[in-house]
Amino acid sequence: MAGSEKRVIDLRRDTITLPDDRMRRAAFSSPLGDSVYGEDPVQRELESAAAAKVGMEAAIFLPSGTMGNLVALLAHTERGQEVILEQNSHIRTSETGGAASVAGLMLKTVAGPSGLPSAEDLRQSVRRDDIHYPQTGLIALEQPHYRYGGIVAPLQELEAVAEVAREFALPVHLDGARIFNACLYMDVGVEAFAARVDSIMISLSKGLGAPVGSVLCGSTEFISRAARYRKMLGGGMRQTGWLCACGLLALSEEYCQRLSEDHQNAHRLAQGLNEIGGLNVRLDRVHTNFVLVELAAGGVEASSLLASLEAAGVRATLASEDRLRFVTSKEVSSDDIEQVINICRTALR
Ligand SMILES: *Cc1c(COP(=O)(O)O)cnc(C)c1O
Repeated sequence: MAGSEKRVIDLRRDTITLPDDRMRRAAFSSPLGDSVYGEDPVQRELESAAAAKVGMEAAIFLPSGTMGNLVALLAHTERGQEVILEQNSHIRTSETGGAASVAGLMLKTVAGPSGLPSAEDLRQSVRRDDIHYPQTGLIALEQPHYRYGGIVAPLQELEAVAEVAREFALPVHLDGARIFNACLYMDVGVEAFAARVDSIMISLSKGLGAPVGSVLCGSTEFISRAARYRKMLGGGMRQTGWLCACGLLALSEEYCQRLSEDHQNAHRLAQGLNEIGGLNVRLDRVHTNFVLVELAAGGVEASSLLASLEAAGVRATLASEDRLRFVTSKEVSSDDIEQVINICRTALR
């Protein structure tokens, strides 16, 4: 980059993270093989490591979180069944309708402002046995909840959901794209989540910093079904060792723990922005690396603040008409955060 160019502080997403030098070296020195034949040694190593880490029997590597969720839906259900999920979950809002168009599923939504559906709503949403009704095939959860600003519901709520699932013998899938952020917030190991569900999808390419990929974990039997759907959807990627070497580092304790820097930066940002007149942040809802900032009614519009920030070299996202979303990642330092707070203060003066 030319020295005269202004550096952009990018708080739009944590998917902008670039593989670091260790990942690049690991990628380029990785042994390779044809993964579709089970011959890529590093993909095999990553899949075993992922399964061991979450405490499930097996795991598969996939090119994206979207494919991971779709493969999970396919492997858990039959066409025409209904999936119960929170109304603003990523599977419903941000995966191009794949559940309906590819997996042939109906979505039964419930509201869950904590990020999870309540046990009571779930119990009422499960279809009773009647020839007129679609069959309930799956409960799909998301933790942390993306659209609600990366919030994590108390583990008792997850346990209550799991109890309803057991009561009706329904499988539970967890979209855990950022599950290690949730683990840090709750101060628990990933098995605290994994033990309460039947499958979990984890993104390697968000805060963890790998360039590509996700892992889907579950029972051996579930994962062997999932592997067929992965192939069907075009996720058989041959020499994947390049990517999986990065994924192995991403899943290591060191990289998972590094996410706490993103959380600290999000907290500082939330606190700093909340002190600016016209901005409001629900500090009790800043759990992970997301900050949702509300603009006071009658003041500056969110879209015009976004434009002023952009002009000053700060990128964020319009989350709704009156809200901006900031996402911290390893590409943003604590000094950057102080700068963003100052730029926001100036923009609103
Ligand atoms: C990003 C994300 C996904 C999808 O992952 P991609 O790799 O972008 O396809 C799924 N669920 C949640 C909650 C996400 O944030």
